[in-house]
Order: sequence, then C-alpha cells, then structure tokens
Amino acid sequence: MMSGKTEHLKKILTEEQISTQDNILNTYGSDWLKLYEPLPSMVLFPRSRQNVEDIINWALEFNTPLVPSGGRTGLSGAAVAQNKEVVVSFERMNKTLAFNEIEQSLTVQPGVITQSIQEQAKEKNLYFPLSFASEGSSQIGGNVATNAGGVHVIRYGSLRKWISGLEVVTGTGKVLSLGRGLIKNTAGYDLMNLFIGSEGTLGLITEITLQLTKKPEPSNVFLFSIPDLNALMKLYHLFKSRLPLRAFEMFTGRAVEYVQKQAPASFPLKEKGPYYALIESDQSAQEQALSLFESALENQYILDGVISESSHQAAELWSFRENISESLSPHCPYKNDVSVRISLLPDFLSEMDQILKKEYPDFPVVWFGHVGDGNLHINILKPENMDKENFLQKCEKVNDILFSIIKKYGGSISAEHGVGLLKKPYLHYSCSEEELRYMKEIKRIFDPNGILNPGKVFS
Ligand SMILES: Cc1cc2nc3c(=O)[nH]c(=O)nc-3n(C[C@H](O)[C@H](O)[C@H](O)COP(=O)(O)OP(=O)(O)OC[C@H]3O[C@@H](n4cnc5c(N)ncnc54)[C@H](O)[C@@H]3O)c2cc1C
Repeated sequence: MMSGKTEHLKKILTEEQISTQDNILNTYGSDWLKLYEPLPSMVLFPRSRQNVEDIINWALEFNTPLVPSGGRTGLSGAAVAQNKEVVVSFERMNKTLAFNEIEQSLTVQPGVITQSIQEQAKEKNLYFPLSFASEGSSQIGGNVATNAGGVHVIRYGSLRKWISGLEVVTGTGKVLSLGRGLIKNTAGYDLMNLFIGSEGTLGLITEITLQLTKKPEPSNVFLFSIPDLNALMKLYHLFKSRLPLRAFEMFTGRAVEYVQKQAPASFPLKEKGPYYALIESDQSAQEQALSLFESALENQYILDGVISESSHQAAELWSFRENISESLSPHCPYKNDVSVRISLLPDFLSEMDQILKKEYPDFPVVWFGHVGDGNLHINILKPENMDKENFLQKCEKVNDILFSIIKKYGGSISAEHGVGLLKKPYLHYSCSEEELRYMKEIKRIFDPNGILNPGKVFS
C-alpha cells in the first residue's frame, strides 16, 4: 500500500517536488510559535493549481491528511504538522498572474511574499495596506487563510476587505472560483468570505485577486510615554477623534527593555513610562497633531513625546514596536491575542492587568498591541529554569480565567492570529455551541473526509 501511495505520487509530481529529508521535514512542519514538535511524513511543493488538485485527489485516495504551509510565520500552530501529515508548501506557487490597471487589482498565486505585493503595488504607484513585522516572510496565501490584520487596520481594515477573488480547491478536490474580481456581488451566499480566515481547513487557496488603493500621503510618527492605562485611552480618544490616524499601537516599558536587550539603540524619550503609544498620522494634519501633542502634555495623558522629522526617524520609532515579537522569541512566549470592543478597553485593560499580576507573579509578562483595533497581544515568557511542558501547563491553567473575562466583555480569544492548535481548546469562550455546530457542519461539507489540516480550529 505504502509503495503504491508513493508511486502514485511520483506520477503527479516530479522528484524535486517531494521531500522526506529530515531538515526539510523539521523546517516545513512547524510555524513561528515553536511550541509544538514537528513530525510530518513528507513535504510537497506544488507549482500549479493542477498539482494541488492532483495532491488532494491523491490524499483522498490514500486517506492522507494534508497541512497547508505558507511562510510559517503563524502564531497559533495552525501550520504545524505533528502527526505524520503531508505538508503542502506553497512557496513555489509564487507568480504574479495579472495586473488590471482599470480595476487596480493584482492577481497572484498564494506563495507570493507579502512584502513583494507591497513592492509591486508601489511600482504601479499604488498601495497594498497589509503590513506587519513578518511581512518579509509571510505569504499572501497564509495571510488570506488567517485573515491577517497588522498595524494599519485602524484605517484600512483587515485583509478580507482587500480581496475580490479567490480560487480554492476544496477537500473533495473541487475547484471553486469565488468572487471573480467583482466589487459588487450579491448572488447567493458569500462563500469567498467563508474561506478567508479558515486556516486551511476548508480548501487550499490557489489564486487570489487583491484590490490595491491609492498611495497614502507621507506620514508623521509620534512616540509617547504614558503614565497609566487610563491616560492611554484618553490619548486614544483625543487623537482618534481629531486626526486621520493610520496606526495607534501600544507597548509596555518591559517590551522596550527586551527590544533594547536584543538590539541596543538609543531611546528617543528622556522621560520613560510604564506604557508607550506609537501613533502614525497623515502629514497634512501635522499642525493639528502638534497642538494635540501639547494638549496631551497639559492634561498629563503623556509624560514625554517625540515626532518624527524624517522617514528615517519614523522607521527608527517604528522599530521599537516592530522588533518586539522578534526580541521575545528566544523566551518561548506563550501568546494570547485578544480583542474587545474599543469602548470597553479601559475597563477590560485594568481587569486584565490585575489578573495577570495575580496569576503570573513569577513570569515576565509583556503586553503590546493594536489598541486602535481593540486588540492586545499578551506574551507570557518562560522562566529560563522551567521546562517547556510545565510552562505550557501553567499558562493553560490561567487561560480559563483570562478567557472568562474575555467572554464577560463579549470579546474574542483570537483577534488576528487564528485558532490553530494553540487556541483550539478555548474557542467556546468566543463562539456559542450553535455557532460551533454550524462551523463543524460547514467543515463536513467542504472536507467530508477530514483531510485538510485536521485537528486545527476544532477536532
Ligand atoms: C514578528 C511577527 C509579527 C506578526 N504580526 C502580525 C500582525 O501584526 N498581524 C497579524 O495578523 N499577524 C501577525 N503575525 C502572524 C503571521 O505573520 C500571520 O498570521 C500571517 O498571515 C501568516 O502567514 P504565513 O504565510 O506565514 O502562514 P503560515 O503560518 O504558513 O500558515 C498560516 C495558516 O494558513 C494556512 N495556509 C497557508 N497557505 C495556505 C494556502 N495556500 N491555502 C490554504 N491555507 C493556507 C496554514 O495551514 C495555516 O493554517 C506576526 C508574526 C510574526 C512572526
């Protein structure tokens, strides 16, 4: 049976599209989280939609589970293969297929790197708004499968808003051409949006049509030190109500310490604070922004602040926010990526703060996030002398307390990182039993044999 399976595979893919080498298995069987041990049986590298169809039909014939894999920058274990699954890597499906000038749309294969899409948009004098620290490695297919967010959601929304077409191959081997580049389409249920954020559990994405937009004007970046969370929310309200914001990010003093430990850089603020806000706004509103800066100082919403005077300085200010994940990575962070409605943030933040101090007295906890979207990343760092399993168990124990609070506030246990393996046990805190039942039924329709990313999102 085993050799029949391999022989059959060799009829549909060339030898260089199939790998069972240990280093390849280890690399492609994992994602950025690194909390789970990879154990795939094989890695496949399709080059075309036909290859993907053939792989799915092969998997159906031999009842073989598949794990789709993009740039492997995911933070929920959604691209991890830990049970001898076959990984399907999209990195060789990396072509740009078409640019439509009139529609300002770009059609690409799923393996194109996110940053390359930004660059291609720039070459056309246009803009692709998805942006985050992993954009140099993540792939657009993985971005679609996680409905990626990032630092500009406050103005541009999540990736979903920029997708007008998707081609997918479902778990039954059927090809669906969804959306087809249409801006308006109310013909029946919106299946395209069902696949966005489905973490590879309903179908493999083989083609994406993205809408681009006009280039934004130059921006100013502000970095403020903040005395407390109450002041942070007042600052948010002041700036959000008066300025065309492009980003409103928050991080703690502890986050800055980790960034500076990893890559020492002089810190631009004299007066440090327990919290920081990084704000990006259009340069045309600079005067208004400066007067808000003064008013924030007078009202003691901020302790100190700086405004960028060049794009180089803006990038330096951004680096304190963008390098946080990288600097925490060696400490094996247990990640929580939660969201609540923005108006509930002040109460939510102070309740969360108390719980974290009480429940994790011995663990360093680092917060940062896209406050402008009601989204916080809470990272619990592993003490050096604790083993991974013990650490995981301790974090999971506290999760029930954290997520009960999320539930009380009507929030989400996963704002932008997806569910994967990490948040699977907690989905019921954000979705009702009925919702979960419908989701499982949808999964059964598109993937009745359960070959697509089994065990992710729910069992
Ligand atoms: C430093 C850092 C910063 C980050 N910041 C952000 C942020 O601000 N906002 C944010 O949203 N995320 C952020 N992330 C998380 C991550 O970059 C995103 O989730 C990203 O969209 C994942 O893309 P990927 O190509 O790496 O996907 P992978 O990690 O490879 O996979 C993610 C999911 O997509 C599925 N998948 C991949 N390709 C396909 C396909 N072609 N068809 C079907 N399913 C597929 C996988 O099976 C998996 O379920 C960050 C990560 C890092 C490391």
